[in-house]
Amino acid sequence: MTLFEKIVARQIPAEIVFEDEQVLAFRDINPQAPVHILIVPKRVIPRIGLAVESDASVLGHLLTCVPEVARRSGVAEGGYRLVINNGRDGGETVPHLHCHLLGGRPLAWPPG
Ligand code: 5GP
Repeated sequence: MTLFEKIVARQIPAEIVFEDEQVLAFRDINPQAPVHILIVPKRVIPRIGLAVESDASVLGHLLTCVPEVARRSGVAEGGYRLVINNGRDGGETVPHLHCHLLGGRPLAWPPG
């Protein structure tokens, strides 16, 4: 099981913000902003670089959950950034696709 599958299965605790049949959203253990949430599909897709057509539905659904996650996290008004890290140079450390939602402060651009 991936680390995030263990969180989905409640084998590892996490501060859960949102859940439905297909996705789980929880607070990052090492936040890079006042609000830092990870939104993960419950069914493992290792990374966006390995996504295939049959993943389109869950990936589309994941994005439609973002407004509710943002509302629950208090950043819907102020704005936020979504990040998906892919591979070594992208900074991916957990091979279970996840979308970072970052907010609660102005975010610099370009990112580091
Ligand atoms: P990546 O670097 O793969 O894009 O993002 C992985 C994220 O998972 C990191 O931001 C890291 O802080 C977070 N993370 C790693 N282990 C845990 C954990 O056990 N619990 C939670 N909530 N987040 C974790």
